[in-house]
This record gives sequence, structure tokens and C-alpha cells, in this order.
Amino acid sequence: METIFTKICQGIIPSTKIYEDGTCFVIMDINPVKKGHCLVIAREPYPNVASCPDEVLTHMILVAKKVEAKQRAVLGNDGSNIIINNDPASGQEVPHIHIHVIPRFTGDGRKHFADHDKYEDGEMQKIGDLLKLS
Ligand code: AMP
Repeated sequence: METIFTKICQGIIPSTKIYEDGTCFVIMDINPVKKGHCLVIAREPYPNVASCPDEVLTHMILVAKKVEAKQRAVLGNDGSNIIINNDPASGQEVPHIHIHVIPRFTGDGRKHFADHDKYEDGEMQKIGDLLKLS
């Protein structure tokens, strides 16, 4: 399925591109959480993590690591959020897998998750048991 990122990849929609290779490309997010916010985007429009081949996902996280190091060197950020919004329920707006690399500064006031759940007694263990990987 064609997405806005497909059109950016094809050069139909302009972007500020900072990197590209045969698997992915990196652009500046047009609406940054903090200035310097980048997106590592797969060339192929896999809609989510489950549909993205392991080798593509692995490559993308390694590119995100390089982007993050460059941000720290240039922007002097103290930390970062490296995030994949995975399907619309998570807030994903563009159904084309991408990793957000957001520079963060001590005390910059940005909140990642505003709300949290609270477990009932024993509930964390119960859900943890269900989630155990073999
Ligand atoms: P998500 O909610 O994880 O799907 O994130 C989509 C991101 O794409 C948002 O942070 C948008 O600001 C960003 N975005 C949408 N359109 C463009 C564009 N034309 N150029 C750069 N970033 C964009």
C-alpha cells in the first residue's frame, strides 16, 4: 500500500533526507517533538513490526543507533526516545514502519507517557506468566 513515506521515498513529496541505503532512509520529522527529531523509515511499506522482516528491522535499529549518536554529537542531547508506534491503537498515524529518534535534554519538559495503569494484587505476576517467552 502506498503511504506518504512511499511518496517521500520516491521524491514525489519533498523531505530533508539525512541518510539512505537499499533498505531504509532517514528524514527529519516535519513536526518534531524536539528539534532534530528523525525518522528511520523502511523503503518497503511494511505496516507494522509483525509484518517487517527480521533483517529489515535489525538493520533499521542499527541505523537508528547511528542517527542517535550523530544527534548527541551535533545537538548535545543528554538522552533520546527511540520509538516505534505499532498500529493505530498505539498512536501510529502513518502505516509504514518507521523508528522515531527523538533527542531529549535534561528537564526539557516532554512527557513520553502521561498516564499509567495500576496492577491489582497478583495481576502483574499473572500477566507476566502469560507473556513468558519460550
Ligand atoms: P507515527 O504517528 O508514529 O505514524 O508518526 C508519523 C510521523 O510522521 C509524525 O511524527 C509526523 O510528524 C511525521 N510526518 C508526517 N508527514 C511528514 C512529512 N511529510 N515529512 C516529515 N515527517 C512527516
